Amino acid sequence: MVNMIGGDNKRALDKTPHYQGDDKMSTHAAKEAFDPVALRQRYDEERVKRLRPDGNQQYQEMKGDFSYFLEDPYVEEPIVREPLEDEVEVAIIGGGLGGLLAGARLREAGIEDIRMIEKGADFGGTWYWNRYPGAACDIEAYTYLPLLEELNFMPPRKYCDAPEILDHSRRIAEHYRLYDNACLQTEVKEMIWDEGTRRWTIHTDRNDKIKARFVLMVNGPLNRPKLPGIKGISNFKGHTFHTSRWDYNYTGGNARGGLTGLKGKRVGIIGTGATAVQCVAFVGKSAEQLYVFQRTPSGVDPRNDHDTDMEWAASLEPGWQKQRQKDFTAILTGRGGRRGEIDQLDQFDDAWVEMGKIYRRRMREAGKDVPKEEVAKVYELANFEKMENIRNRVDDIVKDKDVAEALKPYYAFMCKRPCLDDRYLPTFNRDNVELVDTKGLGVDAITETGVIVDGKEYEVDCLIFATGFEVGTDYTRRSGYNLIGVDGLSLEEKWSKGMISYYGIHSHDFPNCFLIGNGQASFTANYPDGLDEGAKHIAYLVKYFEENNITRVDTTEEAETAWSAEVVGTKARGPQGGSGCTPGYYNLEGQHDPRARHNQPYGGMMGANKYFEKLEEFREGNKMPGLVVS
Ligand code: NDP
Repeated sequence: MVNMIGGDNKRALDKTPHYQGDDKMSTHAAKEAFDPVALRQRYDEERVKRLRPDGNQQYQEMKGDFSYFLEDPYVEEPIVREPLEDEVEVAIIGGGLGGLLAGARLREAGIEDIRMIEKGADFGGTWYWNRYPGAACDIEAYTYLPLLEELNFMPPRKYCDAPEILDHSRRIAEHYRLYDNACLQTEVKEMIWDEGTRRWTIHTDRNDKIKARFVLMVNGPLNRPKLPGIKGISNFKGHTFHTSRWDYNYTGGNARGGLTGLKGKRVGIIGTGATAVQCVAFVGKSAEQLYVFQRTPSGVDPRNDHDTDMEWAASLEPGWQKQRQKDFTAILTGRGGRRGEIDQLDQFDDAWVEMGKIYRRRMREAGKDVPKEEVAKVYELANFEKMENIRNRVDDIVKDKDVAEALKPYYAFMCKRPCLDDRYLPTFNRDNVELVDTKGLGVDAITETGVIVDGKEYEVDCLIFATGFEVGTDYTRRSGYNLIGVDGLSLEEKWSKGMISYYGIHSHDFPNCFLIGNGQASFTANYPDGLDEGAKHIAYLVKYFEENNITRVDTTEEAETAWSAEVVGTKARGPQGGSGCTPGYYNLEGQHDPRARHNQPYGGMMGANKYFEKLEEFREGNKMPGLVVS
């Protein structure tokens, strides 16, 4: 195998000039150009300003009068079919990258009788729904796009956009024959376990009653969009939609722009998270007037996209992608920043690893014998420096000083999803684009004709909600369906005080049912990496059960209690280095809800590779401790 982490290859991908934050470029003076005490205080003030007692309750669920927001605008041919009453060996719920990976790994394990069940009209999951203009992935494609080696595919550019990821999803589905026997445009409503037949019955919105020996739930963590519970939200008489259901019939164009329908229109966008950062430039270019309503600014780093170096690509040897994913996850989870692991960092060159590079440089400067208690301080200073780079970039790009100031994020790196984008900030230099900064308080009210902030009404023809997804709410609310296990036990009820599971995969009294997600499992910003590890693990288990005529598998109460305690007990260290974070979905809106510790990934945001090692240990010698099989 080629040495991915060093040698001549290490810079081959990066032909663009380095951004300022690269450790080779940043000046020595830059690191002292801030006042840590003042920043600490400012971060705290910004956090306190935003804390609200209603936490997640501030949001409006898309149900009842709001359920039209969930309708699928992308269906070209609505499927008409009779309800199914049949049986499959394995049902996979969710056809996003996680479901596709599960299907792929099961096929590789020789499992043939698979049915994918997906509410969208095609595979792709988050990339099926999120087709807003500018939608793209800001993790490099070589790491993010799954199964590149298996499919013998090399992305043409460092980053891929939503249409390319959707194409890749279809490529996976075709390669592994996952369209065969699939139920698309089908939403699961309930799953009920029958002890007599040792089967699940899956009930859907098409009145299907599908029996399955094994079910895999791969719902996705950002599956149900949400609205802000702003006063008067239902009064608005203009056109409105959520970014994950972009209405191209109204705006014209597609995910790559050309929104001709917005000509002459006044548009408002509520929200400035990673989604808004990507679509604002396109709306700003086409609308007559755009108001961007901001509560908390995003941190926006350079993207510096470029063509793939095909010579480099040709030089790669088998196993390169898994190794690259592993290294990337190691860096994001804090391991790659250690001294002596220089090569691991150097193969990447983007904003995700800049933090690690700054930290490494500062540790080097602190000297070999830096006392243990000083390390956290070094980390915090590195984090300040990283965020200063982001704030300085706003000044470099945005001409109006007040607007630039309002666009600067004052919180630690990774408190919110980092964004890599070169179009968003320059959009605020346009005459037809106005940033309406709500100074951390959010929009006051919505009227029939517009949006009110600080007593002023901004009249709009179209109001776009870039307000994110249900995270941390009850299981049924965020997944859309419930499970009824042994003796009528409801999963929603069981988890009402927080998740309880074994490895985040099994839950006692829900036999033959496996979960792939991040709760009590792994989290890495390169999300498909965790999905693939889960998929491989479950494919291994299912194959083993099939080969050994095992028809029922459950975990024990003891095993899941111990695992959940381990998850709750692990220090949920965030990469922000201990500073308090502004509220958001990463931290359950800043609430001290005890469920949050149960629902967190193993090791918080820093435990992914360790978790993967634990899965490997679990499989060793087929001992599978903590599972009861018959
Ligand atoms: P987010 O939850 O990140 O953002 C929601 C936005 O709505 C925030 O700016 C929030 O402000 C704002 N908001 C909520 N309520 C109000 C209110 N009452 N008034 C004003 N503003 C309000 O959702 P996104 O869809 O932007 O992103 C979700 C996730 O999707 C990302 O975190 C990322 O994981 C993923 N994503 C990934 C991409 C990729 O490249 N791979 C690209 C795009 C998204 P506040 O911050 O104050 O709460």
